[in-house]
Amino acid sequence: MELFIFYGLAIISILITMGAQAFITSSYNKYQKVNTTKGLTGEEVARKLLDKHGLKDIKVVQTSGYLSDHYDPKGRVIRLSENIFSKSSVAAVSVACHECGHAIQDKNNFLFLRIRSSLVPVVNLCSYAGYLAIVLGGILSMMGLIWAGIIAEMIILFFQLVTLPVEFDASKRGLKEVKEENFLTESELKGGKVMLTSAALTYVASVATAVIQVLRLVLIYGRRND
Ligand SMILES: [Zn+2]
Repeated sequence: MELFIFYGLAIISILITMGAQAFITSSYNKYQKVNTTKGLTGEEVARKLLDKHGLKDIKVVQTSGYLSDHYDPKGRVIRLSENIFSKSSVAAVSVACHECGHAIQDKNNFLFLRIRSSLVPVVNLCSYAGYLAIVLGGILSMMGLIWAGIIAEMIILFFQLVTLPVEFDASKRGLKEVKEENFLTESELKGGKVMLTSAALTYVASVATAVIQVLRLVLIYGRRND
């Protein structure tokens, strides 16, 4: 049992992360090769949607990196990776629509996005201090410090949970735009749905990993407390 808690749970979380990553990479690789009939690039799609929603001040720029696409609410900019920005594939259109979904959430004051943004500074602190507290608490045999670290891990878990509705909603809004604007034909839409689902899947893996991490810590240190 001890061995399972120490290594088994860690291995399970690694497998979940790797599985999600494999699904994301394979759907991305597949649908970036499928060009759309309409032929709009990720940039053109994003620009069109932002303008449609009265978000003309938000810029769309190209960024480096692989699957590094994101919406930056502070900078008022959507950054799209090279293959998404300049290509007219099913993957490019889908990812661009997902990122615009975030910009529209921001405009509409979507509750979960607000909660998530307000948690960012706390979570940054927790991810540094939490692990340090657990390690130091272990070395100094200070249970109080260890539990403070575990609470920090729980806050991170809460943050990951709040991220889920933000991501699924962005994909839902993205899909609505794809259909309204006819960015994809009926046969291309299947790939679009897969891409929009996989855009949110990374975060499901993060939640699973955070749950397992907290569970592991509670099981390990909860026993020592007896
Ligand atoms: Zn997203």
